[in-house]
Amino acid sequence: MRTEDYIQLEDQYGAHNYHPLDVVIARAEGVWVWDVEDKKYLDCLSAYSALNQGHRHPRVIRALIEQAEKITLTSRAFRNDQLPLLAKELCELTGYEMMLPMNSGAEAVETALKAARLWGYKVKGIPADQAEIIVCSNNFHGRTITIISFTSEPLYKDGFGPATPGFKIIPFGDAAALEAAITPNTAAFMVEPVQGEAGVVVPPEGYLKEVREICDRHNVLLIADEIQSGLGRCGQLFACDWEAVKPDLITIGKALSAGMLPVSAVVGKREILGLFEPGSHGSTFGGSPLACAVAREALKVLVDEKLPERAQELGAYFMDELRAINSPHVKEVRGKGLLIGVELKPEAGGARPFCEELQRRGILAKETHKTVIRFAPPLIISKEDLDWALSQIRAVLA
Ligand SMILES: *Cc1c(COP(=O)(O)O)cnc(C)c1O
Repeated sequence: MRTEDYIQLEDQYGAHNYHPLDVVIARAEGVWVWDVEDKKYLDCLSAYSALNQGHRHPRVIRALIEQAEKITLTSRAFRNDQLPLLAKELCELTGYEMMLPMNSGAEAVETALKAARLWGYKVKGIPADQAEIIVCSNNFHGRTITIISFTSEPLYKDGFGPATPGFKIIPFGDAAALEAAITPNTAAFMVEPVQGEAGVVVPPEGYLKEVREICDRHNVLLIADEIQSGLGRCGQLFACDWEAVKPDLITIGKALSAGMLPVSAVVGKREILGLFEPGSHGSTFGGSPLACAVAREALKVLVDEKLPERAQELGAYFMDELRAINSPHVKEVRGKGLLIGVELKPEAGGARPFCEELQRRGILAKETHKTVIRFAPPLIISKEDLDWALSQIRAVLA
């Protein structure tokens, strides 16, 4: 079968809830992928940062296979010999007291929202069913009915109502707006330290610190959604580390499994995650021995290969070089670590044609919000491969 045949089948039998580039990928290694015609591409999306450790990292593959040969799933009705170790290692790495394992990122976000409401009622004393959670405009936290209830993007929510109540939207990067929106019923403020899907939007310096102080002053929980920005992507373990801010809860996912399976978690304080009682929340696959064995190794690779440090160094270099490109089309280059957005001018005709030209030249990147090209290669990328990518990007943007 050829590229067109796969595309035809997918379009005929699969719902059209994505608009992918027309490349049909069949195999991968490290930062490279090959399509069904055996054409090679550099992956500059990393599955939205789920592949920080690169494709098929040999250590994680080995952990996956070894665990698959022992046991894959117990359900949480029984205990298994991997979850306790992941829980300890994840808490020690992140500096938190407890974790709760789930699968997708959206489930981790839902879990954090449930935890915040529970804390609001049981600890803060908010009257029953009155808890409010504040979020930011242009947020992306996932696709469940509740999460899209507080998106500001019509495409994500139109046609899916009625919305879940209990959420307030304020502008991103505006600490004063947070303080003004807080009421006695506010349980939490949830924020992406760098907004990924919004087009790689970095808040003003000091924003997270200020937000932390405001939350403390008003007894409001701070939830950081680090599903995309965390686990090294932005040049620190967590993007919040840039301002030495410690949220009360952090959602993680994506690279937690090095791109092997859906594995997510909430890490946080005992006084919050400790409020869940048996039966109050759960997941059949969350905390499976297969997921935990993979996540344990994925985290060890992150530390052993110093991926946050690599992202910091290479990201600074990449961003400098992108900014130095003399292009009539570029409005702004922004980002943190190796999460970089190149925003094109409105008259450039959208980011999609640029992504298609990059694809012809062997680079896979994806537009986000029509006018932004996101560059987020695996954090294991070498300087040589990055330089090759830059030569192609220069040719396309100039
Ligand atoms: C991708 C993403 C999610 C959702 O993760 P899924 O695994 O797709 O459900 C949530 N928050 C952020 C910031 C993300 O980038």
